[in-house]
Amino acid sequence: ATPTAIMVGTGLGAKRGVLFKNATALETSARIDTVVMDKTGTLTKGEPEVTDVVVHGLSEDDVLALTAAVERESEHPLAAAVVRYAEARQVPRLEVAGFRNVPGHGAGAQVAGRRVLVGNRKLMVDEGIDIAALVARRDELAATGRTAVMVAVDGTAAAVIALADAVRDTAAPAVAALHEAGIEVVMLTGDNEATAKRIAGQLGIDTVIADVLPGDKADKVAELQRAGKKVAMVGDGVNDAPALATADIGIAIGAGTDVAIETADVVLMRSDPLDVPIALRIGKGTLRKMR
Ligand code: ADP
Ligand code: MG
Repeated sequence: ATPTAIMVGTGLGAKRGVLFKNATALETSARIDTVVMDKTGTLTKGEPEVTDVVVHGLSEDDVLALTAAVERESEHPLAAAVVRYAEARQVPRLEVAGFRNVPGHGAGAQVAGRRVLVGNRKLMVDEGIDIAALVARRDELAATGRTAVMVAVDGTAAAVIALADAVRDTAAPAVAALHEAGIEVVMLTGDNEATAKRIAGQLGIDTVIADVLPGDKADKVAELQRAGKKVAMVGDGVNDAPALATADIGIAIGAGTDVAIETADVVLMRSDPLDVPIALRIGKGTLRKMR
């Protein structure tokens, strides 16, 4: 590309808060045919809130006190939402020992002498928890697009906690604009398939890769590349950084984590999904001027 074309493209982007960190990113963006989007914090606002608590065998307050004690030790956004909800209900603060984080699955600890686990269904199955009493409710809640987390106390399922995370207002228009430009859109998420599919359906995304472990997102991007796709990855989280680095271009949400912003080639300062098709269009304009 001519230096002038690069300058024009970079300037156009900067006006909209679309920061291209290098000329290569600007050039590559013109050749993208597949956009892979993280769900939580990218397509959604990343501000989950508890909507339902379904208990089995214990009172809601007891379950919330036990669960919040574990989640206080976790840095996961879902954990923060559970703690906020429990604190609003003014449940007692319980002592916690032996906290353990299970990446992509959940967490566990000893709380007031009881063994508490909180996380997805896979965590419960892996830990040999009997979930029969609650699994139907979990599936129902997940099918509504909420993230359904399960709680086990002393080896038995004690609750399902559902959390909703609103989709960003411009997520659906962004997907539509990408489709109009002939670009394939893929959702990539650590969340479960039922929840992910429901939200993808609302946004008009037809390809969903769900239940992806934090360390496996980059592999999924590499798989698409091996299939011949030119991939832009859009993400916000620590767990998105390797995928942002692997993709042909990495695009970070400005409100995202520092490591995502540092790793990406393009930063969307306004955290607006509509700036994804705009970034790619700016790249195309630059390429046209080169010829
Ligand atoms: P995401 O990409 O959606 O942020 P993660 O890989 O961080 O996904 O987590 C995947 C799933 O594991 C979550 O949707 C949730 O069901 C479960 N999970 C992980 N950490 C926690 C936690 N601290 N509390 C409850 N659930 C958790
Ligand atoms: Mg995210």
